[in-house]
Amino acid sequence: MSHAVFDLLELQRLRLTNELRHREDISVERLPDYVDDQVASENREISSQKLSNSSEELKDTVRAQEKLRENTYGQCDDCEGDIKPIRLKANFAAIRCIPCQEIHERRKQLLEDRRPRFY
Ligand SMILES: [Zn+2]
Repeated sequence: MSHAVFDLLELQRLRLTNELRHREDISVERLPDYVDDQVASENREISSQKLSNSSEELKDTVRAQEKLRENTYGQCDDCEGDIKPIRLKANFAAIRCIPCQEIHERRKQLLEDRRPRFY
């Protein structure tokens, strides 16, 4: 079973790596002159959000592969409790149980909200 999961993670890792490699394509997106600054900066915001999601996903994917090797796959990285099989089935790169993931995301969101904005 773990071999199949490892391969799935590997495919996901390659896809995300590729996505992040094309980050310039997203951030240097050309906008027509009539698009006002507001829309332009919103667009940049969405792009950077997308990138941050992909790099977070990539981090988790690599970590999940590590966990397979360490034999801790299916165990939450934060509380060391079991990650429910149904969660792993929905997201095989899950490295945290649902409560820990929620805390993690809320914390991340707080940090992002505090980040200065340029518009
Ligand atoms: Zn946990």
